[in-house]
Amino acid sequence: MATTPGGTVQKDALVPTAAGPVLLQPNFEDLLGYAAAAIAILSGPDLRCTYVNEMAVRVTGRTSADQLLGHTFREGLPELEGTGVFEILDEVARSRQPFRGREVKVPLLQFESGVLTDRYLDLVCQPMAGAHGELQGIFIHAVDLTDRVLSRRALEASQERLRLAHEAAQIGTWEWDGDANTRALSAELHEIFGTDPSEVQSAIEEVWASRVHPADKSHVYEVMSEAMQSGLMEVEYRYLHPERGERVLYSKGRRVGNGTQLTGVVLDITDQKNAEKLAAEHRERFEFAAGAGDIGYWFCDLPFDKLVWDERVKEHFWLQPDADVDITLFYRCIHPDDRELTRRAIEESIANHTNYDVEYRTVSLEGKQKWIRATGRTAYDESGKPIRFDGVTQDVTALKQTREALIRSEKLALVGRLATAISHEINNPLEAVINLLYLISQSSTEEMVRGFSESAQQELARVSHIVTHTLRFNRQPHGAEREKVSNLLDSSAAIYTPRMKSLGVQIIRDYRDSEAVRCYGSEIRQVFANMIGNSFDALKPGGRLLLRTRDRVNPRTGEQGVLVSIADSGSGMDGATKRRLFEPFFTTKGEKGTGLGLWVSREILKKHHATLRVRSRQTAGKSGTAFSVWLPAGSELGEGE
Ligand code: ADP
Ligand code: MG
Repeated sequence: MATTPGGTVQKDALVPTAAGPVLLQPNFEDLLGYAAAAIAILSGPDLRCTYVNEMAVRVTGRTSADQLLGHTFREGLPELEGTGVFEILDEVARSRQPFRGREVKVPLLQFESGVLTDRYLDLVCQPMAGAHGELQGIFIHAVDLTDRVLSRRALEASQERLRLAHEAAQIGTWEWDGDANTRALSAELHEIFGTDPSEVQSAIEEVWASRVHPADKSHVYEVMSEAMQSGLMEVEYRYLHPERGERVLYSKGRRVGNGTQLTGVVLDITDQKNAEKLAAEHRERFEFAAGAGDIGYWFCDLPFDKLVWDERVKEHFWLQPDADVDITLFYRCIHPDDRELTRRAIEESIANHTNYDVEYRTVSLEGKQKWIRATGRTAYDESGKPIRFDGVTQDVTALKQTREALIRSEKLALVGRLATAISHEINNPLEAVINLLYLISQSSTEEMVRGFSESAQQELARVSHIVTHTLRFNRQPHGAEREKVSNLLDSSAAIYTPRMKSLGVQIIRDYRDSEAVRCYGSEIRQVFANMIGNSFDALKPGGRLLLRTRDRVNPRTGEQGVLVSIADSGSGMDGATKRRLFEPFFTTKGEKGTGLGLWVSREILKKHHATLRVRSRQTAGKSGTAFSVWLPAGSELGEGE
């Protein structure tokens, strides 16, 4: 046995017999030895391995040629039993027909690691015939494509994940080649446009153009033609979707490489736009409702016997102006679900000398309902005995409806902000992926492809992290659940974190809460997200945001709970802002704010029996704002609202 520079050979194998394979040249062994492919020759009646080059040893995972030489394939590569490879060789031997297979999956035992590893080979098995057509052997030529196949699969997986991320975030992507004037739209974009992907390009374009709002059309075309020059485009336009009606679309893109190719994304931002409009409408209604409060008066001696109500109160209770009223009738008119709460409020107010302030529904004989707010107080004689209980009622139905609409519109605004945050956040990773895909297409080596596709994977992992966080954020659970407060805080912060980083804001997390808290997670997240968003708005580069949690017993009630602080080193607030902070529609941010965030937050926290404190100062060099929220561990959550 002799070893040539690149291969190992059993000497007699290549000595040309009288009728030996004509192919062989004197330096053929050397050529095979240096080949980039794995090469093996099986010879003789039982097809024993008489030649392997170094690459064949490496690809099969052996450590030396001796493990193959002199053996049949079945002896040398026993792990191939059951994979069909032996059968291929048998068939080649029988039929004398060559076999060619692309990316044949072959599990091979790697002797060094002891691991059975799948390799993908472009495989050729060529029968070698003697002068009289008899089979002399089989020439095996295999190119190991494992790395390339794996990189390609990784890339396919990445693209699939990108597609999923887009689908989840309702983002469509497009590619537009200005020279060739071709466009490629993603499936999501066809959904956003309501176009049929199977149509020809010109038909799709025509449909699209016919649906762009006439007043926006010339602007859109202008932006598009400028984009070809500048390599950048950004446009917002109204679009008539065949099923969804009028939508507002936002499209952004830029040039890839230095050709005339642009690529970009489209977002449907209708909800965000609507939220802005809704907030303005509700503001008017709210002010009207608050101003037009019609008030009724009631008086009664204690203990309760006859009640004296004016006509307004009777109207609030669906009664005729001449109706006689006593305490039994009073309770009978109140919605059964609200009776107990009302009774308790009256008793507590009388016993504790506190103001009476309660909201209940009154129900008419036909089952119609009104929301009534009643406020009052007790008068006592010198000995401290309660003698009178008087007050007012007010119909707050419209107010309540408006308040609910307001809460909804702040929620919508938050969703809008989320959409903006998502598009902002995934912009960078997406751009990176677009660049990496381009680099992959230009790569000359598998190593480069692998490197780039690994980077693309990481960027996509970021995208899907952001998207899943946001989706989780928006999910509305049905009831209250036990939640870890620091988790809620983290998922609320997640949508702002990358932007804070790029702004140069440091986020300090200091979590020491062990207690899980019973709450409506999505609502508490909304509270935190607004506070963090407000901090973000107030912070400048180099600022800091502190997120802190502690287990804390309420000193007043002895109840277990968790205290959360969200503190920033931002601009702080002046006295007027501090006083008006929780008023609906109070904002210092002009068009950019709704002024509803803190107002809604306070409603949500009230429902959770939570407490809220704010400190803020504008002292130069020490300015900042801190919100502290204490959440009871096992709050008895109220119904409705
Ligand atoms: P919006 O954020 O839409 O303005 P909010 O109810 O969330 O409405 O906040 C009301 C106002 O309170 C803000 O416009 C701002 O002036 C003030 N504010 C709230 N949080 C902060 C903060 N962390 N720093 C400075 N100002 C704040
Ligand atoms: Mg806000």
